[in-house]
Amino acid sequence: MDEYTPKGRLARALRGESVDRMPAISVTQTGTVEQMEACGAFWPEANEDAEKMATLAEAGHTVIGFEAVRVPFDITAEAEFFGCDIKTGTKEQQPSVVGHVVKSIEDIEKLKDYDLNEGRIGVVCEAIKILSEKYGDELPIMGSMLGPFSLAQHMNGDDWFMAIMTDEEFGFALMELTTEFNIAYAKKMAENGADTMVIIDPTASAMLIGDEFYQKFVVPAHKKIVDTMREMNVATVLHICGDTTPSLGLMESSGVDAISVDQNVDVETALSKVNDTILVGNLDPVSTLWKMTPEEVKKASENVLESGIGLLAPGCGIVSKTPNANLRAMVEMTKNHKY
Ligand SMILES: [Zn+2]
Repeated sequence: MDEYTPKGRLARALRGESVDRMPAISVTQTGTVEQMEACGAFWPEANEDAEKMATLAEAGHTVIGFEAVRVPFDITAEAEFFGCDIKTGTKEQQPSVVGHVVKSIEDIEKLKDYDLNEGRIGVVCEAIKILSEKYGDELPIMGSMLGPFSLAQHMNGDDWFMAIMTDEEFGFALMELTTEFNIAYAKKMAENGADTMVIIDPTASAMLIGDEFYQKFVVPAHKKIVDTMREMNVATVLHICGDTTPSLGLMESSGVDAISVDQNVDVETALSKVNDTILVGNLDPVSTLWKMTPEEVKKASENVLESGIGLLAPGCGIVSKTPNANLRAMVEMTKNHKY
């Protein structure tokens, strides 16, 4: 019999404490068509209805074998909450942000009064409650949210990258709004039972904005979220897309427990860039998890495990067409791995 519950094992692993073996999880989105067919909860409804969202999240555990449940499956609920136009997704496609709502400091002022019970933010919190009531004693309950920098970009559009460099006052004002929102939202998810918080901040990349601006705009925002979560005993994982190798030290300075690195990162090099932050990743969700055979997925998993990764997982969101068999192959390799 295992010495730890999956919840206890992940909590310890994310804090760098010893465990009997590696926990099998995905910190990035888990929804796939085969899981939808197995559990009867499909996108796009499972992005909008708390019961369906919880049912599809549960399939990650019951169908695939992940030792955690995680919501939501997309990263547009936050921008939608603030009034951005969203293109609704399909069974295979996640929704996307197509319209932006903030151009000036006056626009920001108008958005400061909000109610977290509303919209899909409320739905995600409700889904966490459902999952927590069912699995909270046994499984980690993972809440995920778009991070403050990428949310600001969703709200302002692609002008955002220029705005932080040319209009500091506006840049800081929008970051303050998004960071305060992220803190309040993360708190509410934690109050509803989330014990692990994944901050998905795909475009908060020092590769895109440079170290100076990353340090100025992104690190303090992430640190505030991380500090709040730590006070609530919630572990934090930060995911930023692309080759984040040169900026891992800066990412770590926010105090996150773990960093999710994507398939562009060489894990051995990455390990030399962090002190005690756990690295999570980094199987390629497209060329490996979607396209390969289960045997090839096992081989690729072995390579990532041998490189010294802290937690084997997909390097970014799982592609909706990914076969169950491939995800199960990754899970099997993880469960067999002793540190
Ligand atoms: Zn990514």
